[in-house]
Amino acid sequence: TQIMSRGLPKQKPIEGVKQVIVVASGKGGVGKSTTAVNLALALAANDSSKAIGLLDVDVYGPSIPKMMNLKGNPELSQSNLMRPLLNYGIACMSMGFLIEETAPVVWRGLMVMSAIEKLLRQVDWGQLDYLIVDMPPGTGDVQLSVSQNIPISGAVIVSTPQDIALMDAHKGAEMFRKVHVPVLGLVQNMSVFQCPKCKHKTHIFGADGARKLARTLGLDVLGDIPLHLNIREASDTGQPIVFSQPESDEAKAYLRIAVEVV
Ligand code: ADP
Repeated sequence: TQIMSRGLPKQKPIEGVKQVIVVASGKGGVGKSTTAVNLALALAANDSSKAIGLLDVDVYGPSIPKMMNLKGNPELSQSNLMRPLLNYGIACMSMGFLIEETAPVVWRGLMVMSAIEKLLRQVDWGQLDYLIVDMPPGTGDVQLSVSQNIPISGAVIVSTPQDIALMDAHKGAEMFRKVHVPVLGLVQNMSVFQCPKCKHKTHIFGADGARKLARTLGLDVLGDIPLHLNIREASDTGQPIVFSQPESDEAKAYLRIAVEVV
């Protein structure tokens, strides 16, 4: 809070990047990375003239390499900047490219901050219309530091309809308000499960929690994503659903959210 009361430090844009959209969540495991990946692909699918990048600053648990089926060390440009890795037309950068997949991330404090600094400032993105940033869950130093260092066009907050997730999503929305980042809206993930056999719909984590929270906070709901086996399988095999099954209802849910976001 001290940092906040001193006012915002000067924000420096990321070179070549027109707009930064962060994808955040209060709690882990609610589908933030899945949303970030599919949102990036959906923005590209909705308008092929746009150049899209994906930056994974979830330093403790980077999942973009797996979800985007990418691994390897980024090459360095002549000016010593890291070149993003490319798949499905999306330029990607992740802490996961810089450390061993199985290495425990035991950094604390300064080391994490220097990793963040690298990811924010030492990447040669070329020209991007949108950079989607996959934030770590919660409202800690990394989130605050990203929000204060670069100009952000807006934040998308992902939550399940469950009370505990919503409470944390509420905190996330408050943090963005304090650092003057506009919240574009909430994505309600895993809102309904439809049995593939009998078609019965079950609201495993509750039905309308995010909708109610959005009303309380005066925010929009950008869309609902169902809990669906195909979404999980597609992510785990590195073939995100918007890329591999663009005609599916699940992919269409992400494509609609991308329309709301821009
Ligand atoms: P977070 O980034 O919030 O930690 P992830 O995006 O990594 O969450 O998702 C956690 C797990 O849930 C992953 O295995 C992912 O494939 C799965 N998942 C996310 N959203 C859905 C969904 N709508 N339907 C099915 N599985 C999902």
